[in-house]
Amino acid sequence: MQRLKTTLSLGLVSLACMIAPSHAQTAETVTIYSSRIEQLLKPTLDRYTQETGVKINLLTDRGGSLAERLAAEGASSPADVLITVDMGNLWSAAERGLLQKVDSPTLNANVPANFRDPGSRWWGLSQRERTIFYAADRVQPSQLSTYEDLADPKWKGKLCLRTGKQAYTQSLTAMLLAKHGVEKTETIAKGWVANLAGDVFTNDTSMLQALAAGQCDVSIINTYYYGRLLDKEPQFGEKVKLFWANQGVEGDGAHVNLSGGGVTAHAKNPEGARKLLEWLSSKEVQAAYVNGTFESPINQQAEADPIVQAWGKFTPSPLNAADIGSQQPEAIRLLDRVGYR
Ligand code: FE
Repeated sequence: MQRLKTTLSLGLVSLACMIAPSHAQTAETVTIYSSRIEQLLKPTLDRYTQETGVKINLLTDRGGSLAERLAAEGASSPADVLITVDMGNLWSAAERGLLQKVDSPTLNANVPANFRDPGSRWWGLSQRERTIFYAADRVQPSQLSTYEDLADPKWKGKLCLRTGKQAYTQSLTAMLLAKHGVEKTETIAKGWVANLAGDVFTNDTSMLQALAAGQCDVSIINTYYYGRLLDKEPQFGEKVKLFWANQGVEGDGAHVNLSGGGVTAHAKNPEGARKLLEWLSSKEVQAAYVNGTFESPINQQAEADPIVQAWGKFTPSPLNAADIGSQQPEAIRLLDRVGYR
C-alpha cells in the first residue's frame, strides 16, 4: 500500500513537471495572415505583445494567396485574423465565407460606417485615397473636377492610367458602377482609354514620374505613393500636385480604398482576434498602424503623418465599401469590354 502511494505521488510529480514547461507555451496566441508590409506592421504587433502578453504569429503573403490559403485550409486553418488591402478583396473574403460576423461596438465606433462591412465581418484599418494628380506647369487646378471629367475629349493624349488588371483601377471603376450603373460607367471608362497618353502603367510611382517628366498631364494615383516620394524628395511637390476629386457635390467625394481586417471563419482564438482588431483601430494605435505608409488613419480622431495632413481635408465618397467591393467582378468585365488593358 505504502509502495503504491509512493509510485502514485511520483507519478503526479512527473505529470506536474510535464505540465509546467508547456504552460508558458500555451500563453494566449493570435495568428494573423496579412498582406501588409511586414516591417511596417511588426513593430505595432510587438507593442501589442508587450502591452498584453499575447503572442502574435504573423504570416505575410500577397492578399490573393492568403485568401486562397484560408479557403484551402478550411477548419484546420491556424489563422485568427485576416488583414488585407482593397475593398474588393475584403468583400470577396467575406463573400467566400472566410470571415465571421463579430459583434464589436468598439470597432463600430472607431471605424466610420462607410468603411466597414454592414454584415460586421470586416473593418477598414486605414484609408488609401486614390485621387487626381497633375503636372503643375501644364495644368491649372481650376481645369480639374472629377474622375468622370477625365473621360472628356479635352484630355485627349494627356492621361496616364494604371492597368485595368490591377485592383486599384478595378475598385475605382467599381465605385463608379455603384454610383452611376453600367451604361454611364462604360462611357467613362471608354473616354479614359481614348484619352490615354500611351500604354497603361503597372505601378503608381511610375505615373507620378511620368507626370514630372512630361509624358502626361493628369493621372489617378494612390496618395501614399506621392507621400513616399515627397518624404525622400520634398521638391517633387513643386512639379506634381494632388487634387481632391469630386469635391463639393452633395453625395459625392473622392475614392477611398482600404486596408482592413476581420476575424477568420475558423479562428481558434476569436476573442483574441477581436481584441487585437479593436486595439489596432483605437485612436492611440492608429498613428502607429499608418506610420511610414502615408495612408490616413481610419479612426477619424487619430492624427495622420504631417506629409498627409498637408494635403488638406477632403470629402470621401459616402458609398459603402461593401457596395463598392461587390461591384468589382462587374468592374473587371466592364474594363475588359471597353478595351481598358
Ligand atoms: Fe499600393
